[in-house]
Amino acid sequence: MYDIIIIGGGAAGLTAALYAGRGGLKALIIEKMFVGGQAATTYEVDNYPGFNERISGPDLVMKMEAHAKKFGAEIKYEDVVDVDVDSIVKTVKTNKSVYEAKVLILAMGANPKELGLDKEKKFRGAGVSYCATCDGAFYRDKEVAVVGGGDTALEDALFLARFCPKVYLIHRRDAFRAVKVLQDAVLENDKIEPVWDSTVEEILGEDQVEGIKVKNLKTNETKDLKVEGLFVAIGVVPNSGLIVKKVETNNAGYIITDENMQTNKFGVFAAGDIREKILRQIVTAAADGAIATYAAERYINENKWE
Ligand code: NAP
Repeated sequence: MYDIIIIGGGAAGLTAALYAGRGGLKALIIEKMFVGGQAATTYEVDNYPGFNERISGPDLVMKMEAHAKKFGAEIKYEDVVDVDVDSIVKTVKTNKSVYEAKVLILAMGANPKELGLDKEKKFRGAGVSYCATCDGAFYRDKEVAVVGGGDTALEDALFLARFCPKVYLIHRRDAFRAVKVLQDAVLENDKIEPVWDSTVEEILGEDQVEGIKVKNLKTNETKDLKVEGLFVAIGVVPNSGLIVKKVETNNAGYIITDENMQTNKFGVFAAGDIREKILRQIVTAAADGAIATYAAERYINENKWE
């Protein structure tokens, strides 16, 4: 039996494992795809303390993984299909095996939200993307559009403007949500054209994106933009389908915890973007992971296991 099973190997899970190892606890991370979560698909991170020269997302998470492994973290790449959060010994069933632990830390993060348009799913990988840093290079010298007004959308637009001649930035309001430093950079960039008060009504093209129909919400006028790439950056949804009926969540599916990352189930903690919180960033995910393991250690010490 493990002391702690951490589901999800993003910044929160890796930090939880690092703290577990340093505390002499036996920890297992179960990750379904690749470690690093959303941070691994971030082109540049310039707000993680200590990296004042900036660091790429993949480089930062590789360091986090190496750090967690240095303290004994074990990582298995498996798909979790069920969890038992109610018994004193927690059980995690994956597509390959069944594992037991005294504590569970839920750190499955969040995934990009979809616009819900016809052809959006069909054209994923054929012009529709949710990760500019992953797919942007395929659109070199092509005109593209980004949808959204938050940090991700503005960062994506700035990234794409490095090698695309034109980037339309389509936002449903007349003011961005993103931090001011990104707003200033976007508004100063000649290649980025904000399309205010507008939504994408339709994706055009037969086999791939050839354009989009955009509607101005104030005038109701529509116009077609000839773009080959549509980058959707309209926020995230928590990856909590597995446990949404098992631990308390809010209406949007984010897990509710106290300040010690404790959920409403004993021995079950949550950390990172999957948690209801005010700020979802790498630094807050890492902090959550550290706190979750610290609280888990206290919980383990307070209970009799033999
Ligand atoms: P976000 O902050 O939730 O912003 C989503 C944006 O998409 C908003 O501008 C929103 O418009 C728009 N939107 C939402 N649903 C839409 C829809 N159905 N159709 C059209 N537009 C829609 O999401 P995010 O930018 O992905 O950021 C998520 C979190 O990660 C935030 O906490 C952010 O600060 C953080 N983040 C931080 C960094 C960084 O620190 N460098 C980088 C990336 C992300 P409204 O504004 O009108 O609501």
